[in-house]
Amino acid sequence: MIAKPKGTVDITGSDAILWEYVNSVVATMCSAYNYEFIRTPIFEASELFHRSVGESSDIVKKETYDFQDKGGRNITLRPEGTAGVVRSYIENKLYASPDIKKYYYNGTMYRYERPQKGRLREFTQFGVEVLGGSDPIIDAEVISLQYRILEALHIGNLQVNINSLGDNESRDNYKNALVKYLEPHINDLCEDCRERFKTNPLRILDCKVDKDSDILKNAPKTIDYLNKESKERFDTVLKYLGLLDIDYEVNPNIVRGLDYYDHTVFEIVSLDNEETKANVLGGGGRYNKLIKELDGPESYGIGFACGMDRVVDTLKEIELYKDVKKDIECYVMYVSEEEKLYALDITQNLRLNGIVTETNNLNKALKGQFKEADRLNAKYLIILNNEDLQKGLVNVKDNRTKEEEKVDIDELTEYIIGNL
Ligand code: AMP
Repeated sequence: MIAKPKGTVDITGSDAILWEYVNSVVATMCSAYNYEFIRTPIFEASELFHRSVGESSDIVKKETYDFQDKGGRNITLRPEGTAGVVRSYIENKLYASPDIKKYYYNGTMYRYERPQKGRLREFTQFGVEVLGGSDPIIDAEVISLQYRILEALHIGNLQVNINSLGDNESRDNYKNALVKYLEPHINDLCEDCRERFKTNPLRILDCKVDKDSDILKNAPKTIDYLNKESKERFDTVLKYLGLLDIDYEVNPNIVRGLDYYDHTVFEIVSLDNEETKANVLGGGGRYNKLIKELDGPESYGIGFACGMDRVVDTLKEIELYKDVKKDIECYVMYVSEEEKLYALDITQNLRLNGIVTETNNLNKALKGQFKEADRLNAKYLIILNNEDLQKGLVNVKDNRTKEEEKVDIDELTEYIIGNL
């Protein structure tokens, strides 16, 4: 038997139903906020991620799936969604529009991580990117959209943990202070952190090994190093979030693992769920330097990404979604070959009118069909027999009240829609 690769999952049964449901809520909410759907390739030139996510990031250093294709090109399976969307924005000159561009996406990402609960090698993220605007109103919109999507899914007690890295000047000032602080302690940190100290000291702050050590807890905080404009900008974002009724907490430990962030960075957790406190549901931030860095024009961007697998895992713990099943609305029953021809036609008609319908696909006897209809929780049984069909009639049985009625074939669809 061939097994699935390590760190991947098959999404089936009730998980698949929740999966589809999350997708539909994401699409509905993003449309209401006027975001367009965007789909970019699952694989891209490796250089895209080296230059965006950053050479020294854990993702690029250790976790990417890299290969050479048959033409000798260096290819990487995308570990995250932002770089591809920004590449598309630049390559397709979408920046030429006088308006900001607002996209949402949904797709698989690949990271060679050690698989554990909430951490896979192939996982799915939905997310948004807003390109071309730097006003804090956009930061507030992006953060609140992420919050409201999770709220619409009935995930309770949401909290946005937010921080600001500030502009280049603030970040540089902070970096100097951090290096000065860490220097005497560096030998007490993990091997990766000692390496990060040389390549990208900010990254030490979100080290998974040392994150609870006193050294990191007492480290200088980014918000204490924001210059006046950056501080004002951050305060405005917080003011707008307050106005939009978003629960947030300023958390100076959030720096995010990727190189391209500046100003606002955030993560979202559900305080109801012990696991998501550690395994956050999603996060994001502003990346004003990235577009230029990828050879685009001077522009601005901000986005978030949420882990679909973690969102679905969280939903499974909510009472509302326990035993979720996809019920059908009609089950069309027949016995003879002649009745079967009617069944085919009637089934198609009901389906084309949006009524979830199934029929007897295994040539079962009537008893077997009743059982199948019960298993599928069919609301209505459409029972065909030659005699009634000759008169243009079908038997409709309400499977909950067990009442039966003869209905004109031509009026069947309206009858079902009227009674559902
Ligand atoms: P990141 O791009 O690392 O900020 O991740 C954004 C969100 O994607 C996280 O909050 C998780 O919900 C999800 N995520 C990231 N990495 C993984 C993974 N290896 N497996 C499952 N979900 C993940």
